[in-house]
Amino acid sequence: MKNPLLLSIEYLKGVGPQRAEILRSEFGIFRFRDLLYHFPFRYVDRTKFYTISEVTSTATEIQIKGKITSLREVGEGRKKRLVGNFIDDTGEVELVWFRTTKWQVEKFRSLIQKSITIYGKPNLFNNKLSFTHPEIEEESSEKSSSGLLPVYSNTEKALKRGINTRVWQKMQAEVWIQVGNYIKENLSEELCRKYGLTSRKAAFKNIHFPDSTEALEAARKRLKFEEFFFLHLSLQAQKAHGKRNFRSFAFTQIGNYFNDFYKNHLGFELTNAQKRAVKEIRADLGKEVQMNRLLQGDVGSGKTIVAFLSILIAADNGFQSLLMAPTEILAQQHYNGLKEEADKIGLNIALLTGSTPKSARKIIHEQLESGELDMLVGTHALIEDKVQFKNLGLAIIDEQHRFGVAQRAKLWRKGKRPPHILVMTATPIPRTLAMTIYGDLDATVIDELPAGRKPIKTVHRKDKDRLVVFKFIKDEIQKGRQAYIVYPLIEESDKMDYKDLMDGYESITRAFPLPEYAVSIVHGQMKPADKEYEMQRFVKGETQIMVATTVIEVGVNVPNASIMVIESSEKFGLSQLHQLRGRVGRGAEQSYCILMTADKLNEVAFKRVSTMCETNDGFRIAEVDLELRGPGNVMGTQQSGLLDFKIADLKADKPIFLAAKNAAEWLIETDPSLSHPSNQNIRAFFDAFHKKQLSWALIS
Ligand code: ADP
Ligand code: MG
Repeated sequence: MKNPLLLSIEYLKGVGPQRAEILRSEFGIFRFRDLLYHFPFRYVDRTKFYTISEVTSTATEIQIKGKITSLREVGEGRKKRLVGNFIDDTGEVELVWFRTTKWQVEKFRSLIQKSITIYGKPNLFNNKLSFTHPEIEEESSEKSSSGLLPVYSNTEKALKRGINTRVWQKMQAEVWIQVGNYIKENLSEELCRKYGLTSRKAAFKNIHFPDSTEALEAARKRLKFEEFFFLHLSLQAQKAHGKRNFRSFAFTQIGNYFNDFYKNHLGFELTNAQKRAVKEIRADLGKEVQMNRLLQGDVGSGKTIVAFLSILIAADNGFQSLLMAPTEILAQQHYNGLKEEADKIGLNIALLTGSTPKSARKIIHEQLESGELDMLVGTHALIEDKVQFKNLGLAIIDEQHRFGVAQRAKLWRKGKRPPHILVMTATPIPRTLAMTIYGDLDATVIDELPAGRKPIKTVHRKDKDRLVVFKFIKDEIQKGRQAYIVYPLIEESDKMDYKDLMDGYESITRAFPLPEYAVSIVHGQMKPADKEYEMQRFVKGETQIMVATTVIEVGVNVPNASIMVIESSEKFGLSQLHQLRGRVGRGAEQSYCILMTADKLNEVAFKRVSTMCETNDGFRIAEVDLELRGPGNVMGTQQSGLLDFKIADLKADKPIFLAAKNAAEWLIETDPSLSHPSNQNIRAFFDAFHKKQLSWALIS
């Protein structure tokens, strides 16, 4: 017989084509198996009964024993409804049904004066308690042995088609009858014993129909463990795979470039975190295995110098390096900064972007191939470009999440062997997430800012305080400072946002008029050359204010800019706000971040803004972001589905997460090919699971 787990959902008793359509479109439930994975989000305790006198309108769903004493129809047209009086020994409430069918009315009439149980959420209307569309049971009906009944997430649309809690429960009961015996174990006995896990079959049974609260807990633990375990296993496999397959070059020497620069030209003492990072990278580069390292550090933590020191190690071993940035502005800035350092020790460096003229491009090509150039800075244009290196040994990617798989692959084809890879990101990702997102990368975190930085002061101001804000900016400009004023531009093509930006620019040029003030503007619809021109005016201090969209979000470095005003900051996400704020606080002066918002804010926006005012710690902010939005929404993971857990929760279930990681590592160590007979359950499940995951593995 065909495996019933894979049967189409419309063949389940009580479903049929119409409900099947809803289950597919609203919940992604296509097969019997998918229904089984639609886990309850909570349970009601059906052993507990309330009396009417105990009921308040704030209660969640509750049940009361009593009887209907009378029924009547009231209202006209769309407001027409059936109202019943329901009593117990302690009082009376109203029951209300809209749009009842004749059949339902008859059914309710037949219940008058019978002992029944109603179940639902009470509400208060005109000082009267009522239940709208309560569920009704005659008292004799069956209960699950524990009294815990599952409640499933539902949608308006499904509810309208009659798929209520009761129907969900019935469907789950029915599917269990059909497939319960076909649920296959996917962990080994040994693992179950070692980690105290119940069987897979018992877990699915008890997650839907708990025999007891203990059995429910065990079911939850087991299913969460399983989810994490296979993710870890998949990541481990990728990692092992990467390590096995990609040979690179071993940089065994630390020579003159590194030593000379470190001793004579490094203008400051590295922070301990930077030292640690350099040490880890150095160890990686010394091996013949390709490095795949993520360098994670908050804005201003000093990632660039770590990158530069890595480049020097490559140069000491006779290898070229490249550094890619996501935008022209950033590439230009990196180039300017790095050229200054490179010149000190006689390293040759060039910049290649989309706007590099053909003639210059030709020279760069030649110098790369002859080995005359030691390093190349650029945008992704440099991987699209036909450029070939003499011997590319190290590729550094700044703000990596803007580069896709295909681009990374192209990068690898630039030399005889793939270069070592260092990706730098300022996106503070909570550690647990980083582990899952960048499973194939080793991670180094720079968790310390250079000494002597003054923490940025962040304040929240409303639109009505604008004049005060402008006055403040003027005072700071008076002292020689510069300011950014950033407007949201959610989509570069969004006309409304664009208009906001232009209106803003106009009002700012009016408030800060020539000749006393000069205002720059940079946005995504400008030509690169114009952007660069405006940017340079600001960098050189010819303009005091830079009006911009989020194109300046990453990496721009103007130490004299000490004010960041973010307009309509309620429209930005937390990580974006944090990134923007990181544009200031780079010099010796006290810096400020001013979050402008509308007068009224919703709760989530308020939480974001107040979090920004409370802390400068990127990791703390990332945690709040995770809390507010859930892991599925943290930076670009939305489409990946990678973190789309069915039951596990990265934050709340950290101990299980770590246990599962431990188990996966142990398994890979003891039986890397999963060939031991006792691991065949794991292997069968893993093969199917891993295939799905792999396609996401290379995205970074
Ligand atoms: P990010 O990590 O955001 O890319 P940068 O590398 O741009 O940060 O560094 C920010 C600023 O801090 C730069 O001006 C850099 O020269 C300076 N800097 C980096 N490391 C140190 C340090 N250890 N001590 C003092 N200043 C430092
Ligand atoms: Mg940077």
